[in-house]
Amino acid sequence: MDFRHTEEQKMWLDTLDRFMEKEVGREYTRKHDASRQFPEEIYYKVAEEGWLGMLLPEDLGGMGLDPVMYAIFCEKIAKFSLDTAACFMQMIFTANNLATHGTKEQQEKYIPSFLKGDQRFAISISEPNAGSDAAAASTKAVLDGDHWVINGAKMWCSGAHHKNTTIVLMARTSQERYDGLTTILVPNDTPGLEIRKLDTIVRKSLGTTQCFYDNVRVPVANTLGKVGDGWNVIGKHLQLERMSLAASYVGNARTALDDTIRYTKDRKQFGKSLSSFQVIKHRIAENEYELAAARLLVYNAATMLARGEHALKEVSMAKVFAVDTAFKVAFNGMQAMGGYGQMPEFDMERYFREAKHGMVGGGANEIQRSIIAKEMGI
Ligand SMILES: Cc1cc2nc3c(=O)[nH]c(=O)nc-3n(C[C@H](O)[C@H](O)[C@H](O)COP(=O)(O)OP(=O)(O)OC[C@H]3O[C@@H](n4cnc5c(N)ncnc54)[C@H](O)[C@@H]3O)c2cc1C
Repeated sequence: MDFRHTEEQKMWLDTLDRFMEKEVGREYTRKHDASRQFPEEIYYKVAEEGWLGMLLPEDLGGMGLDPVMYAIFCEKIAKFSLDTAACFMQMIFTANNLATHGTKEQQEKYIPSFLKGDQRFAISISEPNAGSDAAAASTKAVLDGDHWVINGAKMWCSGAHHKNTTIVLMARTSQERYDGLTTILVPNDTPGLEIRKLDTIVRKSLGTTQCFYDNVRVPVANTLGKVGDGWNVIGKHLQLERMSLAASYVGNARTALDDTIRYTKDRKQFGKSLSSFQVIKHRIAENEYELAAARLLVYNAATMLARGEHALKEVSMAKVFAVDTAFKVAFNGMQAMGGYGQMPEFDMERYFREAKHGMVGGGANEIQRSIIAKEMGI
């Protein structure tokens, strides 16, 4: 297969790269990581460009771009930080659920203000006792007239605490393991919902939270998709989420590797550049070909999604390989930078922390391997 970008794709890549250099940059990224602030100014700039709607169809005010163009966006938006990328990707791939499964009323209510940058989204699958085994979710939604009454606890709901955020909640509406799950839209200011921020080493700008539901009432009209179809909604969601993550890890690893190359060429010990030592040169070369392979896996998966093909295995392969590669690149970068790698102003410690998170976030590496094996009939 030929994955060389078309002229249109190359222009999109260059536009995004210029945007990242001009509007975001390293200083801004470090500041937001250290202060745990959401990149509001940049978020509104992306909204002004119309890019939040890149996956939404044109009749909903979106750009109607395909998953390959979206992968290019994810690759570039992660140039300096996977956390910055998550602030955008999470909103874009979660809003996409409304385009795919939402009613006309839900789309009219949420999408125009999402496109302006005001309406934000969070996705809530994980629970204290249901992580990799997400279908074990026990947060319950019970019908009471024309309302759902929700009780339970959710874990790791990233971004749920930001203003104007609506949570796409996966809740249990009956006992069947998979067919008993339903997705429901829950605005984060609904009475009875308590959101506590968690102090994690990653996702500092987006933030992640624990959510406690105590008789939270939302109209039945907030059901996203059909009752009992939540596992299917989440399955499609996760496929796009994992493809986004894979592309972003490739983009961030590119910067980490370029930083390593620059540093090891400049830094001299024993009268020579670090990059002249064979052990370092070989690690860099190994990372270069692994990164090239990871990028091909990402664009293979994105191309299959763009063609509407079944790509469960390919998305998981791209995700697990991109994350592992990003981690190796950052691990080697940390070692090559010696003590300096451990200082925030050298950025490598951030790439390292965030790459490690990728081995768990969006579905752990072990689970991706299980998906690949299952798709292979094993
Ligand atoms: C910063 C952060 C942000 C997050 N954001 C969100 C979010 O916005 N929304 C959301 O719903 N979730 C979110 N998550 C949750 C994330 O998806 C889970 O952490 C992940 O699915 C793993 O679940 P767990 O942490 O409970 O680990 P566990 O499921 O307890 O797994 C622990 C370890 O055991 C391994 N393991 C588990 N089962 C198997 C198996 N069958 N075979 C082999 N190994 C296995 C895992 O791979 C892992 O290494 C976030 C997590 C973090 C840390």
